[in-house]
Amino acid sequence: MEAGALVILRQLDQSLARIMKRGIGYERLTLSLDCPDNSDPELRDICDRLNSLFSTLDEFYQYASQLAEGNLEASASRNNIFAMPLKSLQASLRHLTWQAGQVASGDLQQQVHFLGELSHSFNRMILSLREKQSLEKRLKTITDVLGEGVYLLDQERRLIFMNPEAERLLGYGFDELAGKRIHEFIYGQHGDGTRFNPSSSPLIISLTEGREFKDPDAVFICKSGYLLPVAVICRPILENNRHAGTVIAFHDITEQKKSQESLEAVNRILEKQASTDPLTGILNRLKLSQQLDTEMKRAKRYATPLSILLLDIDNFKSVNDGYGHLTGDAVLKEMAHLISGKLRDSDIFARWGGEEFMILIPDCDISQAKACAEKLCRAIAENPFSVSTPVTASFGVAGMRPEDTHESLTNRADQALYLAKQNGRNRVECG
Ligand code: GH3
Ligand code: MG
Ligand code: MG
Repeated sequence: MEAGALVILRQLDQSLARIMKRGIGYERLTLSLDCPDNSDPELRDICDRLNSLFSTLDEFYQYASQLAEGNLEASASRNNIFAMPLKSLQASLRHLTWQAGQVASGDLQQQVHFLGELSHSFNRMILSLREKQSLEKRLKTITDVLGEGVYLLDQERRLIFMNPEAERLLGYGFDELAGKRIHEFIYGQHGDGTRFNPSSSPLIISLTEGREFKDPDAVFICKSGYLLPVAVICRPILENNRHAGTVIAFHDITEQKKSQESLEAVNRILEKQASTDPLTGILNRLKLSQQLDTEMKRAKRYATPLSILLLDIDNFKSVNDGYGHLTGDAVLKEMAHLISGKLRDSDIFARWGGEEFMILIPDCDISQAKACAEKLCRAIAENPFSVSTPVTASFGVAGMRPEDTHESLTNRADQALYLAKQNGRNRVECG
């Protein structure tokens, strides 16, 4: 073999050995075979072709590497014999990149028909995005028509969604509140009127800890400052067992509260009617009997005295006969008014029936009760009633004994009253 050819072959062998040993990626695929000056022109030609082949391979390798790194602007020279398949791959990748951009800006009509398995995956992804989008639209329609205010907080308790009913009830637009921790200013007061302390509010605690929370009687502060009574429920959203946010639903309970309040008012009126004497406005016998039971129990439990006074207007029949029934009614009212004005708040005064009245005096023994009855007896006798004839009353006083029942105590007062009548009226007797 010609000596020059041997030199070339050795150089080629060393270059190939170097590339094989270190691998592509560390080594450029260049080859510069150095042909001795006196070499055969044919050998020189072979050297030039081999050098050019390796430089073409290197260019192809650089191009492919750049594509692999995502540089879609890379190119190989026009006449590179290996560049065609890479150019076609590059065009497909460019188109796919553009399509992904379109999808990102909301165009879910994109379809890929190249790149084999990759296009199937891409198209499947578009399909599932379309399904999600359509579900989202349906959910939005539901929350749009919902008669319940709904909003969503992220795990930092910042507002990320609000439906039209929530906007209407609170008077805020979503844009005004987006990203804000709205509970720090809308959940201001409990139903009973007490201001809440953000750090100890059960709602904030449950939002922080991701626990469900219900408050059927809360108050939200609207944009206008109006205090809106609401029933509210907060439910945490869990994603992969982690608290990812909270959905809060609430509704206006103004009407419910109004009807509850008017029901309570009606009940209060009915209760008052059931316990009041319609003529005099003081308690009736039924209510007094209940109060007597209560006071007797209390007196027994605490071993305190309790006395009762039973008073009956003297010769009241003659008032009716002489002045008429209406004047008799007026005298009964005057009597109730006069006695009410002379009692303490703790005394219980009622119309016992007809022209009879009963007074319960807690914490009062029989001698104190007798003194009280005598004072009242004198006040009645000295009072100018609407009739010209004197009006007096007789009193029967009884002090509670440990063994007394409701009946035995009132019976003793009744007997004492009978005695007062027997003994000439306008006087007090004790039983
Ligand atoms: P005594 O001193 O013994 O008690 O004589 P009295 O006339 O007061 O007693 P009597 O039981 O004979 O009469 C009670 C009268 O009280 C008869 C009844 O018409 C009258 N009376 C009872 N309730 C009312 C009422 O609501 N209005 C009027 N105007 N009179 C009443
Ligand atoms: Mg009587
Ligand atoms: Mg009488």
